[in-house]
Amino acid sequence: MKQIDLRSDTVTRPSAAMRDAMMKAAVGDDVYGEDPTVNELEALAAKLLGTRDAIFCTSGTQSNLLALLTHCERGDEYIVGQRAHTYRYEGGGAAVLGSIQPQPLDFEEDGTLNLETVSKFIKPDDFHFARTKLLCLENTHAGKVLPLEYLKKASAFARNNKLMLHLDGARVFNAAVKLKIDVKEITQYFDTISCCLSKGLGAPVGSVLCGSKDQIKKARRWRKVLGGGMRQAGILAAAGIYALSNNLLRLETDHVNALALAEGLNEIDKIHIDIETVQTNIIFADIKADMDPLCDFLASKGIIIDKSNELRLVTHLDISSKDIDYTIQAFKAF
Ligand SMILES: *Cc1c(COP(=O)(O)O)cnc(C)c1O
Repeated sequence: MKQIDLRSDTVTRPSAAMRDAMMKAAVGDDVYGEDPTVNELEALAAKLLGTRDAIFCTSGTQSNLLALLTHCERGDEYIVGQRAHTYRYEGGGAAVLGSIQPQPLDFEEDGTLNLETVSKFIKPDDFHFARTKLLCLENTHAGKVLPLEYLKKASAFARNNKLMLHLDGARVFNAAVKLKIDVKEITQYFDTISCCLSKGLGAPVGSVLCGSKDQIKKARRWRKVLGGGMRQAGILAAAGIYALSNNLLRLETDHVNALALAEGLNEIDKIHIDIETVQTNIIFADIKADMDPLCDFLASKGIIIDKSNELRLVTHLDISSKDIDYTIQAFKAF
């Protein structure tokens, strides 16, 4: 039976063509800077995202952490969303490994941070306080796309307040595809951008951190310190090149599928989805049902969802429109 795994877009498996590219990759020792395929991926990522340089990382968590470590030193602080990945879901890495203090603030409904509120939390230059150095945004956040106008304001705000600006752009290409713009129109506002290759783009492993030559040089040092210096990593980088060359525009299909799934499920009385929030490939649903029997029933039909009470469903390149129809029917049958 085909498995329809809606838990996350991290569950995608490399396609035959991607595996073929991995098989054929030219490799060398990347710690010596001699892996041609890693070098090609880093150049491609920098070109696509409009930065001077880029570095291939083991994961988005590592890529975000490298950004924090390059922007902040011991006793510095970053301002970040309460539910941001870089605060909530990365094991406190910045504090654990960098002695960097987070200043979390609640996100607005649309996934932005209110800049007036942010300004109240920038600490004065006084030895009682941590030094506020960095503002972190996330795009998409919970599947929501940050408005371009907001990014422009946030960038001016950061400059005026002598803050660096980092984007956790794990799904930044979903945002660009949704807005039908070149991703550079989003990334132009940021000093560093982290982007996952291993989610909707379909690579098995890896993220890229993009930024200036100087920032990426610092990040390269920290990546080695963190144990992220990989050797013949070209095998993995080849998957990333394939993803960036073939899987960007097809994200649109995931968005169409997510909307169709949300609309189909919304016909069920015990499910409520705010369609406004379904902007890319992620759906959050309120559901009045016992999750255990629901999950078991769906599993018997080959559909995998998370058991948590806040139902999150994610579409990706291993989910077809037929799978969406089948899934809606299965929910209805339950
Ligand atoms: C997935 C994700 C990351 C990084 O995830 P890894 O699993 O470490 O690659 C970072 N930020 C956001 C918003 C994410 O969704």
